[in-house]
Amino acid sequence: MEVEVKLKLPDASAHHKVATILAPFHKVTHLQENVFFDGANGELSAKRAVLRLRFYNGDSRCVVSLKGKAVLVDGVSRVEEAEEDLEAALGRACVAEPSRLLSAAERCGLLKTVLAEYGCSDFVCLGGFRNVRGVFEWEGLNIELDETHYSFGTTYEIECETADPEAAKNILEHFLQQNSVPFSHSQLSKFAVFRSGKLPD
Ligand code: MN
Ligand code: MN
Ligand code: MN
Repeated sequence: MEVEVKLKLPDASAHHKVATILAPFHKVTHLQENVFFDGANGELSAKRAVLRLRFYNGDSRCVVSLKGKAVLVDGVSRVEEAEEDLEAALGRACVAEPSRLLSAAERCGLLKTVLAEYGCSDFVCLGGFRNVRGVFEWEGLNIELDETHYSFGTTYEIECETADPEAAKNILEHFLQQNSVPFSHSQLSKFAVFRSGKLPD
């Protein structure tokens, strides 16, 4: 189970302010490209499952993710998650030709599980979006500061994966309030925003 605090920042200026304050605690920045798939007959979405290929910094890494039964309440997200690395070139081939996920399953136990559990006989690509993720280690928290680029606009968000979401949320909210950074609890996952086709309110 992946548990994350998700706080939405309203605009680029709030994002910039957080990035500036946390700059001394910056670890790494990832350029992520997220591409999503469903079974050709909607087998995954019918069970609220999401299959994603995530490419890091061009083709330096590719990770297959299967997420399920996502719940997002009061800025805390809980989702069943499994992940496995895949050869980036093979991942690119799957984006270009989603049927390649079937043969890629020979090289990836997680894809094999998807085929078996959801009974997909083929796949469709749903498209996706890019995300610039700054990672910071601050106050014992692993903070991810996201700038997400959809075809219809850009959103800004803080994510923090944690075993104690209420405590992490308190620390983050206090930090933002002290620094006069406006924020709200994220109401939708990035995938849900992407599927909605519009920026959230
Ligand atoms: Mn995760
Ligand atoms: Mn996340
Ligand atoms: Mn995460």
